[in-house]
Amino acid sequence: MVVVQDIAGVRDLCSAARADGKRVAVVPTMGALHEGHLVLVDRARSKGQFVVVTIFVNPTQFGPGEDLSRYPRDLEGDVAKLEQRGVDLVFTPNVGDMYPNGHATTVHVSGLTEHLCGAQRPSHFDGVALIVAKLLNIVGPSTAVFGRKDYQQLRVIRRMVRDLDMPIEVLGVPTVRDADGLAKSSRNAYLGPKERERALAISRGLTAAHYAFGSGERRVDELLGAVEAFVKVSADAIDYVTAADPETLEPLPRHAICSERLLLAVAARFAGTRLIDNTVIGEDSPPLARESRR
Ligand code: AMP
Repeated sequence: MVVVQDIAGVRDLCSAARADGKRVAVVPTMGALHEGHLVLVDRARSKGQFVVVTIFVNPTQFGPGEDLSRYPRDLEGDVAKLEQRGVDLVFTPNVGDMYPNGHATTVHVSGLTEHLCGAQRPSHFDGVALIVAKLLNIVGPSTAVFGRKDYQQLRVIRRMVRDLDMPIEVLGVPTVRDADGLAKSSRNAYLGPKERERALAISRGLTAAHYAFGSGERRVDELLGAVEAFVKVSADAIDYVTAADPETLEPLPRHAICSERLLLAVAARFAGTRLIDNTVIGEDSPPLARESRR
């Protein structure tokens, strides 16, 4: 495995891999890697003979007052984990190379970015779309792998790749969770034991909604209520608990009746740490087995 910082070096290695007839698969990350990221790496390996992981804490996707400066970083630990997982190339660019003075181009995916996290983090998805477009242009993969944990991000990237005619297959991998249901996240490192326990309300709430749906409940009001019943009593603040169309991400009114599939998405704060989670009812497995949901 090689770790490369410069853009030209990565281009050369990826071109050489393609010239060798290898399919290139990439996993973009911000580092502080956990098993959720590594499952993406395994998926990439199943699709490509040359696996690239990018590690870059992208400043343009953080808003003012967000956690850019204290975002967890552990390059040495990350590199060791990726080596064990059989990665070929780790790309660790620096901010100055990715955003040279005078950079002036934006990538905006309209519509999908207006809802859910986009409503509260207005420039976040522009930053995500820009950096992912740049990374894909540098690496030139056949496949790019993302987590359904960031469901809105996955939809935005799929749309960008389609709209810009990038010849890349975008794969979404189911959310990897701790045994107690908490979705794995680099930001979980911010949680103390008490907040972590309270944060389980999110996956418990999403699970309760799954089982309500399984029992025939189709009223959005009731399904949302099932999630809220858990999250409201545990979170310090709720950014949103939303039912939405899984394709357009348009929120559904509470009086709606849902059809085959329904996105339930949560963003909530626990002692200042903002956590997100989601499930697509009718498609994803419930976060928890029924018997352990309380
Ligand atoms: P991040 O480093 O948080 O930007 O995440 C990099 C990639 O890993 C994104 O595609 C995320 O959706 C994905 N990811 C993060 N956490 C998980 C998880 N618990 N399960 C699956 N994918 C994840």
